[in-house]
Amino acid sequence: VPELPEVEATRRRVEPAVKNRRILAVEVLRASALAGQKPGEFAKLVTGRTIRAVRRRGKNFLLDLSGDVTVRIHFRMTGGMLVECRPKITPRVRVIFELSGGDTLLFVDSRALGQLYAAPTAAIDAQLDKALGPEPLSRAFRLEPFVEAARGSRLPAKLYLMDQKRVAGLGNIYAAEALWQARIDPRRPMREVPARKRAELYSAIRTVLRDAVKSARLAYKRPGPFQEGEYARAVYAREGEPCPRCGRPVRRIEQGGRSTFFCPHCQK
Ligand SMILES: [Zn+2]
Repeated sequence: VPELPEVEATRRRVEPAVKNRRILAVEVLRASALAGQKPGEFAKLVTGRTIRAVRRRGKNFLLDLSGDVTVRIHFRMTGGMLVECRPKITPRVRVIFELSGGDTLLFVDSRALGQLYAAPTAAIDAQLDKALGPEPLSRAFRLEPFVEAARGSRLPAKLYLMDQKRVAGLGNIYAAEALWQARIDPRRPMREVPARKRAELYSAIRTVLRDAVKSARLAYKRPGPFQEGEYARAVYAREGEPCPRCGRPVRRIEQGGRSTFFCPHCQK
C-alpha cells in the first residue's frame, strides 16, 4: 500500500519525464476511477494543458497543469503511475494521458480503489489543507506543536499517527515502524506517553520516512510501479519473528480494523 514514501518516490520518478509536456488527449478506461466527475468533463478540463509540476501532499499525487488546474490522484491500495513510450494497455490501466513528445502517462490500479479528479489548483490545495496535517518531512512539521498536540489526545498511539490530520502521509507500515523506533506501545493512549517519548516519536517519524523514501526510490528504479520499498522493517508484517532490538517475538494485534505489529517487550 503506497504511503508517503512510495508516493514521494513515484513523484520523483515521474516528474522529470512529464514536466513541461502537453496533455494531447486523455482516455478514461474506467469511469469509476473518477471521483465525482464524468470522463468527458475530466478530459475537457485537462486536455491541451501542460504539466507544470508534479507534487505530493500526504499520500496524494498531484499533477499541476497550466491555467491553474490540478489533477489529484489517490492511489489507495494498489494505484500508481507509469510513463511509457509504447504503453501496454493491461487490465490495470485506468486512465491514459497522451503527452507531447510521444510518451504516455498511465494511471494504473489493479484493485481499482484509487481515485482521481481535476479542479482548480486553489480549490484542491484548500481541500488538502483542510483534510491533512503538516508534511512530516517539511519545516511545517515542528517538534513542539507535535509534542503538545499529542498530549491532549486519548487515542491509542498507533491510531493517532494514522490520523491524516495529525501527520500527513503515515499509514499502517510506517506508523508501526516509528512507534517501534520510539519504543512506544501502539495501544497506549497518546496523552499517557511521556513528553520525552513524544519527542522521540517526532524524530522517529522523520527518520523512518526519510529512510523509506530512499528505499522506495531504489525499488522504483526497477521497472513497474508497485514494488514495495526495500525498507528494512523492524516489526511490520513480522509477527513471531525476533525483534531486531531485543530478540523477543513481534506480536500482531488489531487496531481500528487493521493489523498492528509491535514488540511488547521493548515498546512501553
Ligand atoms: Zn523488542
